[in-house]
Amino acid sequence: MSEGKKLDATRMHKYDAEVTNLIFEYMRDRLSMPEVPLDFPGDKKVLADALAGLMKPEGNPASEVLKLYDEVISRAVVSGDSPRFMAFIPTAPTKAALLFDMIVSCASIQGISWLEAAGSISAENQVLRWMADVAGLPQSAGGTFVSGGSAANLAALTVARETGRKNRGLKDRAPVRIALSKQAHSSIGNSLAILDVEPLIVETAGYSMSVADLTAALARCTPDEPPVVGVVATAGTTNAGILDDLAGIGKYAQANNLWFHVDAAYGGAGLLAPSTKSLFAGIELADSITMDPHKWWFAPFDVAAILYREPHLAAAVHTQDASYLDVLHEDSDLINPTDLAYHLTRRARGLPLWFSLAVNGTAAYSDAVEASIQLTREVADLVRAHPDLELVIEPTLSVLLWRKIGWEPKDYRALQDRLIESQAAFVTPTSWEGETVGRFAFVHPGTTLDMVREVFAAI
Ligand SMILES: *Cc1c(COP(=O)(O)O)cnc(C)c1O
Repeated sequence: MSEGKKLDATRMHKYDAEVTNLIFEYMRDRLSMPEVPLDFPGDKKVLADALAGLMKPEGNPASEVLKLYDEVISRAVVSGDSPRFMAFIPTAPTKAALLFDMIVSCASIQGISWLEAAGSISAENQVLRWMADVAGLPQSAGGTFVSGGSAANLAALTVARETGRKNRGLKDRAPVRIALSKQAHSSIGNSLAILDVEPLIVETAGYSMSVADLTAALARCTPDEPPVVGVVATAGTTNAGILDDLAGIGKYAQANNLWFHVDAAYGGAGLLAPSTKSLFAGIELADSITMDPHKWWFAPFDVAAILYREPHLAAAVHTQDASYLDVLHEDSDLINPTDLAYHLTRRARGLPLWFSLAVNGTAAYSDAVEASIQLTREVADLVRAHPDLELVIEPTLSVLLWRKIGWEPKDYRALQDRLIESQAAFVTPTSWEGETVGRFAFVHPGTTLDMVREVFAAI
């Protein structure tokens, strides 16, 4: 007879004061930096060499792995939260939000269902209610936090498709279409492809979609084509910060039984700034809104809000049906966060924002958003005053497109390389009407006009 070998299965789960101190020290260091280093794009081969052999049965000393992380891995990640990160859409989490994110991780705080997580769900819902109020949505509104704007858009468009079919008495899987303009974010097109919903591309006379553009596109539809059941408007395009005519499109959508989805993933925070709030008039008509706290609402990755005017419509589409989950749905008055998007297990990723909002107050958020908008206007003045630079279009929110007269695409790429090499800034070009141009996106309240001057000094 063999005697069962006694397994030491709990050795990973014991408190280790030394490792804990190492990690806390690292975090304290990082949090106390006046400005985090920008760091560098990495070299795949160098990184593979540094990582080689790390996975082995007996493990490695934590101090060595942390050292490798600090000295090699983390240096090969360009810091999206550096005030010198002006490419794509940066991130700028508050200290309170970063700290609370550690609590969410440390305590494995989830936000799946009311049965298990009434506390975290109540707190997350308080933030969602505040965001709904900021957008002017009615008391009925509700939603959940998902991993990103892409996931939020997919969740909303799934509900748009199903509600559109139901409203029209169409059968399951009946072909339907959703209208959008070319300026809509790539995730909208991807979501429609996943959903097998054909896009109706609305040609726009200007850079933003007007209700006239929409009605002209709808007028060209023929009865043999699948019905259009919804329209997507963008409140702040990622490339240029432009807003569609939310009021016109929203009123038309309401009057014509179209689901009105507003993608405000980047721009939505502009609602907080007194100088841009009015641009969003009409957003309150939305059936669903995407807003990304990990962009301009100063929360750490990864968190996006999906808000629905009538959350029960979303629950009707997204609730997962499985025997072991039946117990979650005994109280039909309570909608679980997990029932409002395509996900099941979820961390309470809204809590860092909740804590930071409660601690800092909403006015601090307005000030921080307004600061980026003011900076954008000052940079626009700088460009106008510069003999070799031009504005490509007037900025609306906190994205600014500029060109250097006579520059070719390779010049913008070379500037990008020079700036990251000197650690002055991370700036990437974009294209506008077929032309390669310079682009800034500002969301970090620590970004200064002098930092932008350093960029222009390098051209
Ligand atoms: C960033 C963005 C998205 C995608 O959001 P992720 O969080 O990156 O998935 C969608 N729509 C717009 C308008 C965006 O700016």
